[in-house]
Amino acid sequence: MKIDSERKDRLKKMLNKMREQILQEAKEEMKKFQTGEKRQIVEAVMDDADLSAIDLSEDISLKQLSTHRDILKKIEEALRKIEEGTYGICEMCGDEIVEERLKIMPFAIYCRDCQEKIEMMEKLESEEG
Ligand SMILES: [Zn+2]
Repeated sequence: MKIDSERKDRLKKMLNKMREQILQEAKEEMKKFQTGEKRQIVEAVMDDADLSAIDLSEDISLKQLSTHRDILKKIEEALRKIEEGTYGICEMCGDEIVEERLKIMPFAIYCRDCQEKIEMMEKLESEEG
């Protein structure tokens, strides 16, 4: 699948919009931590993309923030892939990711089959502890 420049622009616009939206949400979340001991953790997470700071806490709000962070990373990855011309190709098996999937999840980097495999493995790992 070759991405023409019109589609490229459209995708980039959509991804940028998503990114803004998520940043906005993250900022709202962060307002809750303007004071207090969690503030430093939150700032570290937002600045350094360091997710390791997050899992020391069971705090739901902080987990929420790490989710935002994850999605932001994926969006940036997708934007990079658009530039490279590898957008829409599964990182695991190299197959094309179907259009329908990209519509729902424009930052997907795996096809559905691979994503399911990964989720299954992650589930197994977390069950094993
Ligand atoms: Zn795949």
